Amino acid sequence: MSEAVAQTVASRFSELYGAEPHGVWAAPGRVNLIGEHTDYNDGFVMPFALPHTAVAAVARRDDGILRLHSADVESGVTELRLDALSPESDKTWTAYPAGVVWALREAGHAITGADIHLSSTVPSGAGLSSSAALEVVVALALNDLFSLGLRGWQLARLCQRAENVYVGAPVGIMDQTASACCETGHALFLDTRDLSQKQIPFDLAAEGMRLLVVDTQVKHSHSEGEYGKRRAGCEKGAALLGVDALRDIPYADLDAALARLGDEEEVRRLVRHIVTENARVERVVSLLESGETRAIGPVLIEGHASLRDDFRISCPELDLVVDTALASGALGARMTGGGFGGSAIVLAEEQDVDAITKTVTEAFASAGFTTPRVFEAVPSPGARRLH
Ligand code: ADP
Ligand code: MG
Repeated sequence: MSEAVAQTVASRFSELYGAEPHGVWAAPGRVNLIGEHTDYNDGFVMPFALPHTAVAAVARRDDGILRLHSADVESGVTELRLDALSPESDKTWTAYPAGVVWALREAGHAITGADIHLSSTVPSGAGLSSSAALEVVVALALNDLFSLGLRGWQLARLCQRAENVYVGAPVGIMDQTASACCETGHALFLDTRDLSQKQIPFDLAAEGMRLLVVDTQVKHSHSEGEYGKRRAGCEKGAALLGVDALRDIPYADLDAALARLGDEEEVRRLVRHIVTENARVERVVSLLESGETRAIGPVLIEGHASLRDDFRISCPELDLVVDTALASGALGARMTGGGFGGSAIVLAEEQDVDAITKTVTEAFASAGFTTPRVFEAVPSPGARRLH
């Protein structure tokens, strides 16, 4: 399967650039099981990799030129000079791969040029991290072709810097680390403060369960501004409480922290979400480690309520997925990703999957919403060389 994909992407590379690529790499999108908006609070997250990947065929060049092409965008080959790359100069898709090259060079790595052809099956803008997949696949290819010897977490940091500074999007570190470091059959328990990580076995099929991703296919236009407000609110909370990040408030101290915030109602809600969400990640880890997989369902449901009522980043489409799935027998469900659209996840017994899918789809039709895309998410490999 991945051999066939690698062949297709390599042949297209040859048509475009008139020579064989030096290799083909893949990096996945991700879905986050639990730990939402904690990554910019130095907290815990727990993503796993999707089978959907960005694939890159790449050849190195030594003349200071970067050429970029995507099979998924209606434009030809973009040619850039490495010494002209500059942050926030590009508002198109090429900013993601060019930003990675810029970040590597900024960090002192001697990248001398490349021809890159990309093709991705990660749905774009669905909260499944198509942008991180694109960045990480380029970073991994250049790491190999220029023998940089960087580890997955180091590539993730550079990709985050590319997205923060070059693209100009204030994202946390979860997506890039997930794409770079996840492993088949596992969820990644990641401490975003120091990037220490633990692979947690997560094989639902072996226990007769499934995890569905429901892509609502909507993205509400105010999502970026709201993300910035939540980040700013969390920073304000940390400052008022005298800590570096909200991660530093232990769950046991939550009530005392909330009392100290007095009438800062908005900040209190944000703080409560982050502190309880970090505790939920730890609960899910310990339940999975003790084999109590079904018991994570209620934790996911609580996580959704916290995002809806305290963090206030859900929307009618996401709430409808969660409410309908739970009403038709799901073990747990919650929105995942940034919010205001994108995707929700549903944990269900295998035999309930068809009924849940049907009920959710019908509920969307009755509400007049766009038909959602439902697929099963199996924990898949992280970034790797295919060819
Ligand atoms: P998400 O990461 O949740 O999918 P983002 O807004 O962070 O959403 O990233 C989506 C952007 O990434 C797209 O607008 C596009 O610029 C870029 N992108 C994603 N996939 C591709 C692709 N296959 N080819 C070119 N650009 C892509
Ligand atoms: Mg993204």
